Amino acid sequence: MAGIWPDDIRCVALITFDVDGITSWLNRNPDFINYPSLLSMAEYGPSVATPRILDMLDAQGIPGSFYIPGYVAETHPDLVREIAGRGHEVAHHGYIHEPPATMTPDKEEEVLIKGIGILGELTGEAPVGYRSPSWELSPVSLDLLAKHNFQYDSSLMGDDAPYFVQGGDPPRNLVELPIHWLLDDAPHFAYAPSANRLGPMRNPDEVFESWAAEFRGIYRYGRCFNLTMHPQYIGRPGRLLMLERLIEYIKTFPGSGPAAHDRGGWPDDTAIDRSEHEYTDWERRVDAVHQVLGQQGIRTTDEMRRAIESLPPELYEALSYYEKWTAALEILLIEKGILTADEIDAKTAVLREQGL
Ligand SMILES: [Zn+2]
Repeated sequence: MAGIWPDDIRCVALITFDVDGITSWLNRNPDFINYPSLLSMAEYGPSVATPRILDMLDAQGIPGSFYIPGYVAETHPDLVREIAGRGHEVAHHGYIHEPPATMTPDKEEEVLIKGIGILGELTGEAPVGYRSPSWELSPVSLDLLAKHNFQYDSSLMGDDAPYFVQGGDPPRNLVELPIHWLLDDAPHFAYAPSANRLGPMRNPDEVFESWAAEFRGIYRYGRCFNLTMHPQYIGRPGRLLMLERLIEYIKTFPGSGPAAHDRGGWPDDTAIDRSEHEYTDWERRVDAVHQVLGQQGIRTTDEMRRAIESLPPELYEALSYYEKWTAALEILLIEKGILTADEIDAKTAVLREQGL
C-alpha cells in the first residue's frame, strides 16, 4: 500500500459543522442586533437545524465535528451536551466569532481561554481542536494554540491532507486539518440581503456535483475530504437531503468513509500512521527539512512558492510534487544560511536509520 493512510484506508472524509448561530453576524456588525429577521435566520442553525443534523448523522452511523463559538454554547448549553453525549467532537470556534487576524495577541488569548472554559465546563473536557472564525488566523494563533494544549487546527489551506504546523516556545507540532472554500457551504448558499450577502443561492444538486467531484479527486489521490458546513445553511431541509445523499455516495467508495478524529484527538507527534508506508528518500528529505524550518519558525508558503518558481525549468518539469517542495525548501534553508546541502544529506540519513 502506497498511500498516506494506514491499513486499507484509501481516503478520509471529515463531516464538520460550524455552529455560528447569530455570532458571525454580530461580530461583523453589532448593529445587526437590531435586525431580528436576519438574526432569526441565523438562530435557525442551533435551534432547528442542528438537532435534525444530529439525527441524520445517527441514522448514517457517523461522527462529526462541531465547532462552536462560546456565546452559542452559553446560550445553548443543552445542545452542546447533546452533541458531545452523542459521541461527536465539540471544538473551539472563538467566543463571538472573532477572526484572530482582527484581534491583538492579548485579546486573542483572552478569547481562546474563555472558549476553552465554556466548552470544557459543558462537555467535561477541554477542546483539542480549533477552527478560526472566517478562517483568518493571526501571526500568533499557532503559538497560542500550542501554549493552550490544542492538538490540531483547521483553518489553513496549504494541502489536501493533514500536515504539521509548528507553534509555541519551544515549537511543537500541531496537526493541521486543511479546509478549502470549495468545500464550504456558505459560498454556495449564504444569502442575506440586509447584510449585503448576495450569494448565488445555488441549487443543492449543483452543489452535490461540486462536492462529489472534489471527493472523487481526493479519493483518486488518497487524501482528506474536509467538508465545512453551517447548520443555518446546510440545515435547510432540501439541502440536508443533499448532504445525506453525499454521505451515502461517499460510502460507496471502497476504503473510504466519513470519520472524525475521536474526542481523544490526534496523537501528539504523528498526523498519519506511517507504519505501512514505504518511504522514499525524497519524503525523508521533506521531513528533515520541515523539522529544521519548524525550529527556525519559518512557515511562509509565499517564500516556498517563490523558491519553487526559481527552480530551473528542466528540473521543475522532471520533479514530482514532493520533490519540487523538497528542492524549494532546501534552497530556502541554504539561502538563509540555516543548513548546508551536506547537513541536509546527514539529517536525511538519520531519518533513514531510524526507519522513518
Ligand atoms: Zn464560523
